[in-house]
Amino acid sequence: MKFQTAPISTHAQYLLNDSRQLSSPSSSIFFAIKGLHHDGHQYLDDLYRKGVREFVVEKSACTTGIMRELSHMPEAKVWQVENSILTMQEVAAQHRSQFAIPVIGVTGSNGKTVVKEWLSQLLANRFQIVKSPKSYNSQIGVPLSVWQMNKAHTLAIFEAGISRPEEMEALQKVIQPTIGIFTNIGTAHNEFFAETSQKIREKMKLFQQAKTLIYCSDYVEIDEIVKKEFIFENPSCKILSWSRVLPFGIRVDWEVGLQNTLVTLQLDDPDTEKEDLPFQGGHAMKLDVPFTDEASIENAIHCIVSMIHLGYNELEIQARLQILRPISMRLEMKQGVRGNYLIDDTYNNDLAGLTIALNFLNQQKQREAKVLILSDLLETGVIESELYKHIAHLVKAKHLDMVIGIGEIITRNCGLFSIPSKNGVHEGALHFFRTTQDFLESRLIKEIKDSVILVKGARKFGFEQVVSKLVKKTHGTILEINLDAITHNLNYYRDKIGQQTKIMVMVKAFAYGAGSTEVANLLQFHGVDYLTVAYADEGVALRQNGVYLPIMVMNPSPNDFEQIVQYNLEPEIYSKRILREFSEFIDEHHLTAKIHIKLDTGMHRLGFEKHELPALLEVLTCNPNLWVSTIFSHLVGADGAEHDDFTRNQAALYTEMANEISEAIGYFPSRHLANSAGIARFPEARLDMVRLGIGLYGVAATPEDQAQLQTVGTLKTVISQIKTVEAHETVGYSRKGILNRKTKTATIAIGYADGFDRGFSRGNGEVLVHGIRCKVIGNICMDMCMIDVTDVPNVQEGDDVIIFGKDLSIIELAQKIDTIPYEILTNVSERVKRVFFQV
Ligand SMILES: *Cc1c(COP(=O)(O)O)cnc(C)c1O
Repeated sequence: MKFQTAPISTHAQYLLNDSRQLSSPSSSIFFAIKGLHHDGHQYLDDLYRKGVREFVVEKSACTTGIMRELSHMPEAKVWQVENSILTMQEVAAQHRSQFAIPVIGVTGSNGKTVVKEWLSQLLANRFQIVKSPKSYNSQIGVPLSVWQMNKAHTLAIFEAGISRPEEMEALQKVIQPTIGIFTNIGTAHNEFFAETSQKIREKMKLFQQAKTLIYCSDYVEIDEIVKKEFIFENPSCKILSWSRVLPFGIRVDWEVGLQNTLVTLQLDDPDTEKEDLPFQGGHAMKLDVPFTDEASIENAIHCIVSMIHLGYNELEIQARLQILRPISMRLEMKQGVRGNYLIDDTYNNDLAGLTIALNFLNQQKQREAKVLILSDLLETGVIESELYKHIAHLVKAKHLDMVIGIGEIITRNCGLFSIPSKNGVHEGALHFFRTTQDFLESRLIKEIKDSVILVKGARKFGFEQVVSKLVKKTHGTILEINLDAITHNLNYYRDKIGQQTKIMVMVKAFAYGAGSTEVANLLQFHGVDYLTVAYADEGVALRQNGVYLPIMVMNPSPNDFEQIVQYNLEPEIYSKRILREFSEFIDEHHLTAKIHIKLDTGMHRLGFEKHELPALLEVLTCNPNLWVSTIFSHLVGADGAEHDDFTRNQAALYTEMANEISEAIGYFPSRHLANSAGIARFPEARLDMVRLGIGLYGVAATPEDQAQLQTVGTLKTVISQIKTVEAHETVGYSRKGILNRKTKTATIAIGYADGFDRGFSRGNGEVLVHGIRCKVIGNICMDMCMIDVTDVPNVQEGDDVIIFGKDLSIIELAQKIDTIPYEILTNVSERVKRVFFQV
């Protein structure tokens, strides 16, 4: 190993910050980052063995252990730095400086990714474009994006997002945009920014050296800061602002139709330099934008103004606009037929997107077999043979079991692909089809089973048909689970408890309705310490779906003991009876087992009471084959201030009892007491480990926490039929839906059997259609119910209906029917399909 001196010079093709995403060891440079939840320095050895030779490590993380490891890597080049993320940014900034092409930098509260993606589609006819993959806009995402720039590119589009002050300065240095787009500013609360103007000033730093700035001056706060501050800090920057109300800049007007919007742009202000723009005084540009919602129209106008700036004329802009489609950057995971899981990524179709999707595929341990269905890739600026060599290499590095290539071009390059046999067990399979139709008609599509399948194709290949053939059919009602929100909430609580405290996550009851195996798989990926289920069969299902984390079973019964042992589950021991039965079972089979002792400190549900401790200790002390892994108890009212004295008494009693047990058995099992509310309200009760439940799923015990958590689940259905019903008529069973006006009703595909509680009947419940609240009419039926859509413009059969989600919270629903959010979540029936997604 040789320590290198700064600055870093590397020929690596990839900057790597997550060892799990390695694909080309010899052309990667690894940046070891010591984060709060993760320490990259733990993977140096592993990466070296896989062939990585360039490493950037942080001085403070170089313990003697790490130094010893490094000393055993003779060929390694190692740079020791203060902060790996900053260094990665510097390396990327250096790279960026070598290119003199136009670089568009996009920031703002919303629409960054859409504007970036749309621009890259719109401009693709004139430029070779490099852009941020997906929404790679963070302190790490931006350098990774910029590192992709090469000599072939003639235009770059990168997005930048920040969550804290000081961050944008760093991103500015990496992106160095020449053209800036400020999409908009939202008012969403953010703990790190005191006020909106501070947020805007920070974001404006991206444009410090831009030559052009595009924004909408109807965002008054942005406009003020541009006019009062920015133009003095960057006086040579050309300002291209547009507005629907102000009489200067580009004046915009729009008229929303049924399927599209007619947008008029006008620039006739005598003070503006007209020669830069292809307008004549008084001439209006009229464009047909294929969207009707305000956010899309705004995004499209930013794109149009950019195109005008880049010299496109009206006709050309009009023609290009017609190719725009709604952007879904989401990777969706659905349950498929024949035990398959399906990852649907039929929108995104470039190399960077493929890499990300393959990583997501590999992250799914629910099924061992991994299948890729891939169409021709429409990547610009790369020679065909090079591109397919690259893809073939990527596919090989990801250890797939089967690859199905569809399209003339990929088929023509099939000779480049190979799949190594996995664990020496079997050869992976390669199949190529010229058209999607050929594949749909083949036997192969019916033979894929028990696999995770990534479906990734360009739009023109119509892979929706492939997806619809492979996915489980349902009745239009789905529960969407946002995996990013789960990760966010998990990290929020991890930050709160700090690194010293371990975290056990409750995935009982189908992970609070969210889907136990998928949620558990994600938690495993993020390295939580423990999982907990209520019953043994839930634990068995996790084990059968690739979950290897320790799992506690809260309510074991003697019938389950065999499975508990066989699947390496750990029972909660809560009574003398279950203790006796379990220890007999263990003795009989000459086994040892880890157990968790549950103490009853006031809940009076399960657990040993204080007077039962002698009996417990007698059994434990003479059965050394029972190893007490943890001792715990449960708080009954940690969410309510009125119970705080009781909670403290519970904690005190718990400590007393746990001490007694530890003393008697002669070792110190870990201690845990706090549930989600306890974590938030009783820091002193966090002890060795906490048990996170409802907080992970987005419901907090305090308003401060609630403001920071993200919504995890969205329950959605569709409108089956729309009717117009006269004022004197009634709707639904028992004539309970009495109408006092002529009403447009919609029948929606959800009923109490799906978990839409009958308590929401007769106007008590509301749902969202196009963002507008609609009341339930009459009694909710088993599989359907009726709502009032009289006030929803343009409502149509087939439209989406939101039952709960970000804008209609389960907290509100729970209040309406006098229950708790837990019940709203767990009531969603298993017949409702879960769709998991990650952005
Ligand atoms: C469900 C449960 C939790 C989690 O409670 P939340 O309120 O959802 O955080 C913790 N401990 C035990 C014993 C539980 O049963």
